[in-house]
Order: sequence, then structure tokens, then C-alpha cells
Amino acid sequence: MIRQIVGWHRDEVGDWVAELSCLHNQHVRHRPPFQERPWVQTHEGRGTRLGTEIECPLCDRAELPEGLRLARTAGPFDQDSLPAGLRRDHRVAERTWGRLRVTSGSVGFAMGTDPPVERRLEAGDDQPIPPGVPHALRVGGPVTLQVDFLVAPGP
Ligand SMILES: [Zn+2]
Repeated sequence: MIRQIVGWHRDEVGDWVAELSCLHNQHVRHRPPFQERPWVQTHEGRGTRLGTEIECPLCDRAELPEGLRLARTAGPFDQDSLPAGLRRDHRVAERTWGRLRVTSGSVGFAMGTDPPVERRLEAGDDQPIPPGVPHALRVGGPVTLQVDFLVAPGP
């Protein structure tokens, strides 16, 4: 999934890490002759890459970034109170992750990652939902669930 570079920091051994719009981090290394990215070693070079696009495989795997903080929780909802907007394709806001938690029963879940996710979530299951990715719940019977919204830790 294509994301934008929104910042840079160094890891504990001094390698440069791109901060992505999805809240994932990705190493960008200059290791000739295998990885030729001399620009990453200069302030100017990194600056020109801000706002450019980069592939984020962690988003396609729906791996929740580390260190997020809970902003709010929607629900709990059951099969009757679940808002119509969650039953059809919808998206979590930019720079926000969803975490769907099923507390009883089960529900179908579909998401437009690459490859797409199509699964049934049972009581106790968690499903991370990356920002901006279309997804929908398919209610076919009794269920209770809630959705946590997670954001980057404060400054
Ligand atoms: Zn990502």
C-alpha cells in the first residue's frame, strides 16, 4: 500500500528511519552496492523526500504500529445497534488506526488491503484496520463488538 513519508528520525544505531503517514516506521538505508540511497545521509536529501510515496507492506498486513495511544472507543454495538455506516464500505481517518474487537458472537469482516482480507471474527478476536482502507462489517447473527481508535502518542 502506498503511503507518504512525513518525517525522519534515527534508530538506536544511527540508521535513518522514515516516518510514514500510516504511523508505521520504515528503515531507509544507504548500503552500496545493494541499496543506493546516498541522499538519505544529508539533511537536504531527506527533506526533498518528505511528502513522497513509499510502499508500506506492514499496512497490507494490517500490522498495528507500536506505541499508539487510545483516542476513543465506539460502541459497544450489537447486531441491532451497529450503525449502518459500519455495515457498508467505510474508512478510518488518516493517521488513525481502528481496532475492531468482538466480545461475543461473530461477524464477517472484509477489507481492501492487498491481498484483501475476508474473514469471520469470533468472540475474543481483534482486527487492526489501517487508516484510509475501505472495509465493511457483515452481520449475519448475534454479535457484540466495539471499535477502538488509536493515534500517534502525543508530542
Ligand atoms: Zn503502513
